[in-house]
Amino acid sequence: MLTRTLTISLLFPLLLPLTANAQRKPPQKSTVDTTTATAIDAMRPAASVPSPESILGFRPGDDRKLANWAEVLDVFRKLDAASDRMMFEELGKTTMGAPFVVATISAPENLRRLAEYKDIQRQLADPRTLGPRADRKAKELIARGKTIVLITCGVHSTEVGSTLSSMLIAHRLLSSNEPDVQDILRNTIVLLVPSLNPDGVDIVKRWYDKTLGTPYEGTTPPELYHKYVGHDNNRDWYAFTQIETQLTVDKIHNVWHPQIVHDIHQQGQFGARLFVPPYMKPVEPNVPAQIVEGYTELGNHVAGEMRAAGFKGITTDSSYDAWTPARAYSHYHGGVRILSETASAKLATPITVKFDDRRPDEGYDPRKTSPNFPDLWTGGEWKLRNITDYMTTAAFSLMKHATQNRARWLQRFYEIGKEAVRPRKPGEVYAFIIPLLDAARDGSDIEHQKWQRLKRILAFGGVTLDRARRFTLNGRRYPDETLIVRMAQPYGGFAKALLEVQRYPDLRDASGNPIPPYDVTAHTLPLLMGIEVKTVTTPFAYGRLTNDYNWGGGHGVFSPRLALYKSHVPSMDEGWTRWAIESSPEFSDKSVHSLLDAEARTGNLRAKYDAIILPDQSPRLILEGHKKGTMPDEYTGGLGAEGVKALREFVEAGGTLICLNKASNFAVEQFKLPVRDVTAGLKRTEFYVPGSILRTEIASAHPIVPGWMRKSIAWVEDSPAFEVSDAREASRVRVIARYPDNADPLLSGWLLGGEKLRGKAALVEVTMGKGRVYLFGFRPQYRGQSLATYPLLFNAITRSGESSR
Ligand SMILES: [Zn+2]
Repeated sequence: MLTRTLTISLLFPLLLPLTANAQRKPPQKSTVDTTTATAIDAMRPAASVPSPESILGFRPGDDRKLANWAEVLDVFRKLDAASDRMMFEELGKTTMGAPFVVATISAPENLRRLAEYKDIQRQLADPRTLGPRADRKAKELIARGKTIVLITCGVHSTEVGSTLSSMLIAHRLLSSNEPDVQDILRNTIVLLVPSLNPDGVDIVKRWYDKTLGTPYEGTTPPELYHKYVGHDNNRDWYAFTQIETQLTVDKIHNVWHPQIVHDIHQQGQFGARLFVPPYMKPVEPNVPAQIVEGYTELGNHVAGEMRAAGFKGITTDSSYDAWTPARAYSHYHGGVRILSETASAKLATPITVKFDDRRPDEGYDPRKTSPNFPDLWTGGEWKLRNITDYMTTAAFSLMKHATQNRARWLQRFYEIGKEAVRPRKPGEVYAFIIPLLDAARDGSDIEHQKWQRLKRILAFGGVTLDRARRFTLNGRRYPDETLIVRMAQPYGGFAKALLEVQRYPDLRDASGNPIPPYDVTAHTLPLLMGIEVKTVTTPFAYGRLTNDYNWGGGHGVFSPRLALYKSHVPSMDEGWTRWAIESSPEFSDKSVHSLLDAEARTGNLRAKYDAIILPDQSPRLILEGHKKGTMPDEYTGGLGAEGVKALREFVEAGGTLICLNKASNFAVEQFKLPVRDVTAGLKRTEFYVPGSILRTEIASAHPIVPGWMRKSIAWVEDSPAFEVSDAREASRVRVIARYPDNADPLLSGWLLGGEKLRGKAALVEVTMGKGRVYLFGFRPQYRGQSLATYPLLFNAITRSGESSR
């Protein structure tokens, strides 16, 4: 270790793992701006900055040690107090009320002029503000500006290394007088977020400490590590549903427009030791070419430097794609997103990985070298210290690139802005028109919500919306309040990505099997929300309204006796369902009851509840939960036979059971309902729909279908579709929505074998005793976005209480 470290330090002084105590070598000659060196020299001596170890009692990255959020805050506050290179701020409170914070780190003279640097960023981001001699003015701004680097840690709380690394990164930036570190401080402004999900830091720490020294040490908590969305907190970067996303976007991204965003993650134990960009195909078509160029150059730089410094098992151009804006706000806002994924241990507990344990992933095989995986890692022990070494080294390599290529990063940022605001050519999209329908003007709360949500999402993403006076275009009259989104504006591409239809490319492997997207394939908000949008490719004139409008809303009229099943195998869909209900003005219940296995098994549910929701989860996990011996006993076993019996009695006694997506098959199997899933057993080459928007038709008037609804959509992702399996019992089954008989149901995304769905049911009601079971063959509240199908879910809930009220 020592030998390797010394060799590394000679070649790459900045790439010294932060754990090494080796003597630092004399400075390399720097090629970057050193004109303000005197100010740096005047900084306080490094010795006065306390080490994280002296505050925590352990060095971040030590085996079996995690810090809770209060301890992380304590470290940052003490670093802040001891250094003039950092400004530490609370931006707001998290979902559970914890402080959400950011540390701004730079040379002291830069910190004194933050307003000026923000202003430079603002002007370069929108070249329209620069007037007729924009290029010349930009040149002057670029000469003065700094590279803005946002480093975000801990969005996924079980990936414990990054929040620990944030303290090491901050300490080194604050305490080191190495020339490379001083160059970083002079040339960049680093915005360091120790955790994007502080609540999860404590959820994981509590669980880890509870199981430490038991057979369950290193298991992941039996609950979501974010109250509502768990892992999907990193799928919220265009819908902005959660407080933490809102704070990050509103108070960091939109204020600073960072050129580089480094989002530090961990992946599984058995793949590469580290992934950095470039990303795999496909790239979402609205991501600017300069962004692809930027993340390719920077990712390859980090990988190359680390490989040369002796770090093994690094891959690029594999596993992770650049398709969904749900994971990449900055790609549509002038900055590259450098995702890094370091291999995991078991939380803070070391593991041993045998060579043969390794498994191939998309684009590489960790057991073989290949151009995008040139250095094998030969296996052995893998521990938290390895993780923090890879993370901190990658972060410093990235900051070094930001420093040495400062002018290039700012120039590229300006070029992206210039391309965004240029007048559109004939045939290119000129604008989107979003007509305000009478249904929205006079309609229900949900109609208001849809409009408010779409408008708010676009505005939050920095998009300017014009409110037009009534006008006529192509023979159609548009009323007052029609919204117009012109493309020639800095973040027009963000709006276009969200407003247009996705055509996901048909990517296959060598055997002809579809290559799965890293996440999902569609993000067309007008379809998800049930809002009409027109695309216009020629300029047209309209007048603008300026008065404010106010739609009111927010009645909270009804509080159903509702329980939401909450498995000890955490289901993100459970969290999203909770969020959809608790955040909706339709319901006054702001704390939906969690039905745990233990309560469900005791029975007598009808006395307490009118409706029970089973969120999307596999039937086996609902029934069996964690296997005995893999978790402490109280978290094992699932609903089990007693739970199934209790749910059956609940429905037969008049209760309503609402099953979402895969959970529908749980009810079909356990209650022997007379329907069949027509997608069961189909191969991927025959039928495949990895998160897409499909078209549905309303099959019959039904109490949960709003009177105006004739057609709708379905968010389909590992979803069943139904037909009646037993004709003798057909009278128990009522098809509420189905896929079209004679048309491909795909609206946006990717669908193979669509003919298998023709005429099949997407939503059915099955009666059982005095009660009913709703089988949603889709996710009606998909990530808080599919407002088009909210009414079906909400009405199913409200209707359940009608007999009791
Ligand atoms: Zn992650």
